[in-house]
Amino acid sequence: MSDDNLKPATIAARAAGAMNMGDGGVVPGIAVASTYARHSDNALMRADNLYARDENDTVRQTEEVIRQLEGAADSLLFPSGMAAIAALFRALPSGARVIMQSGIYWGATVWVRDYCARHAVTLEEVDSSDITALEAACATPADLVWIEVPSNPWLKITDITRAADLAHAAGALLAVDGTAASPVLSRVLDMGADISMHSATKSMNGHSDVVAGVLSCRDADAPVWRAIAQARHDGGAILGPFEAWLLMRGLRTLPLRMERMCANALRVAKAMAAHDGIDAVWYPGLTDHPGHAVATQQMCGGYGCLLSVLVRGDAARAIEVAGRLQLFHRATSLGGVESLIEHRATIEPDTGIPVNLLRLSIGIEDADDLIADLTQALDGGQ
Ligand SMILES: *Cc1c(COP(=O)(O)O)cnc(C)c1O
Repeated sequence: MSDDNLKPATIAARAAGAMNMGDGGVVPGIAVASTYARHSDNALMRADNLYARDENDTVRQTEEVIRQLEGAADSLLFPSGMAAIAALFRALPSGARVIMQSGIYWGATVWVRDYCARHAVTLEEVDSSDITALEAACATPADLVWIEVPSNPWLKITDITRAADLAHAAGALLAVDGTAASPVLSRVLDMGADISMHSATKSMNGHSDVVAGVLSCRDADAPVWRAIAQARHDGGAILGPFEAWLLMRGLRTLPLRMERMCANALRVAKAMAAHDGIDAVWYPGLTDHPGHAVATQQMCGGYGCLLSVLVRGDAARAIEVAGRLQLFHRATSLGGVESLIEHRATIEPDTGIPVNLLRLSIGIEDADDLIADLTQALDGGQ
């Protein structure tokens, strides 16, 4: 049975076969050494382990789990999602032209704008969920098209297959931030993307106790991938073994958690859409979402844990509703087993985010309890 034919739940549960070869344990230990010994003839005891800046078995094993889940040629872990994004942009040639989706993860937007401005990289921002807008941007040759599917917190859906065709026709690579979907819901490399990126801090780890990021590629011999791998080795943006081990542990239940989170999120989205204290619900699983048909085609098993609701009223009213919740934690981030809620305009004011928008990350609790909590928060004090 070839590993590449295994289903995600099997790959994840057995962590791609990771065991502790030292004691025969069915879970691997944590490789903590910072340096590795040589034999008396000066040969390394293991040729692939010289120094732990980029050579660590725990990190490698976690990368192998992700590589198999992504259907990738190679995967590389980084100490955060932002470090993974930075690694990709730093591999671009100077004078490059980048097309980036507008209205995506705010941290990425801020960093990319600054990086491009200071490195003579031409940056064009377009709403790629409007494929004709992306087509127009791709009429001029480019080096990289960067999209986020679904986008955070707008929940816009870009057609990944068409985006790949447009990017490639412009001579560009397509890179997809699939954090809000996870590789379980969408295998973007199979749809033509060249690079897949995830903040492993979110649903991949799933327990809100690790910060990590990962890039995966379709072609490990592509110059951009070789540059990224070399830069990680030489530049040292590595994930520590403890974090890698925790991430591997979290990944074991990723397919199971996504199943529950997606089912819960759909129920919460429907309940919120039916509540008269809510003006709008943005969730690609709802049939009236503009990206619903494309999302249904390119996601399998659900539409993710992330949704945004527009509370009827102003910013103060939205904050008041969030403040009355008893089960949701008021915190940024997403993809953990516990549900979170955040008033996004507090984080990114004056960027077009509606002031009455609350972003919800739905966890694995009982959906009825979550809906009851949201309902009491909306109904109380009206
Ligand atoms: C959180 C997030 C990131 C950044 O990841 P960190 O691990 O926080 O650095 C990038 N993209 C998306 C969509 C995110 O949600």
